[in-house]
Amino acid sequence: THFGYRSVPKEAKTSLVGSVFSDVASKYDLMNDWMSLGLHRIWKDLFVMSLAPTADMRILDVAGGTGDVAFRIVESKRKDSGGSAKQVEPVVVVDINEDMLRVGKERAKERGYRESEIMFVHGNAEKLPAASETVDAYVISFGMRNVTEPELALQEAYRVLRVGGRFHMLEFAQVQNDVLGYLYDMYSFSVIPWIGQLVANNRDAYQYLVESIRKFPSQEEFSKMMKNAGFQQVSYRNYHQGIVAQYSGFKL
Ligand code: SAM
Repeated sequence: THFGYRSVPKEAKTSLVGSVFSDVASKYDLMNDWMSLGLHRIWKDLFVMSLAPTADMRILDVAGGTGDVAFRIVESKRKDSGGSAKQVEPVVVVDINEDMLRVGKERAKERGYRESEIMFVHGNAEKLPAASETVDAYVISFGMRNVTEPELALQEAYRVLRVGGRFHMLEFAQVQNDVLGYLYDMYSFSVIPWIGQLVANNRDAYQYLVESIRKFPSQEEFSKMMKNAGFQQVSYRNYHQGIVAQYSGFKL
């Protein structure tokens, strides 16, 4: 409708999302800084802080891409173990895109992380390469929006979590303030595709990503989807008036 919104058919979504992330893999983290004006760092810091990862926690970072969130988790686990003999469970990053995983592995190596601290696994959120009831915390940051069938991903999250385990999601949401919402629309439909063109030479793909944010369920709608998948004590918290929201739910 406004700002030239176009819809993308479901079949095309998986391949379009694939090409977007393959194209930008090497510039992904730089793009995030540009597009969010650096805010994504604050959101991710707060997200991982509320996760409070301990050394022995089994954490699956789904759609973990280049490891931006997983690295924060590794740092928290290091702090928690404090060099003691305490058992440290590696963070497992699962992503559907080999190019994003490759960049993640390189960055992990540069940072000096051991394989006992972080693992990168190729896989689909809709069909996770993990056994049932083995995970303490399922984490997905800016990934659910890109999954073709979020309901399936939620079912899978529920399956792999142990009883008592927790689902954590960080995702773009619906801005709760009209004035900010208007400015945000202007910014995302004009500035972001332009940055996509400039940095990754891929204007259309970025325009699609902006549209995917508009299409994604609201905070209330997504909470309902979580409950439908079986999660309990479902809650969410907005950051910056709902530009993004953090969701939580338990398998009980
Ligand atoms: N979690 C990282 C972060 O917060 O920086 C990366 C987020 S990035 C915006 C989205 C990621 O989702 C991409 O790496 C993409 O390959 C991945 N992805 C998209 N569909 C997926 C699926 N069905 N299963 C697993 N990963 C998927």
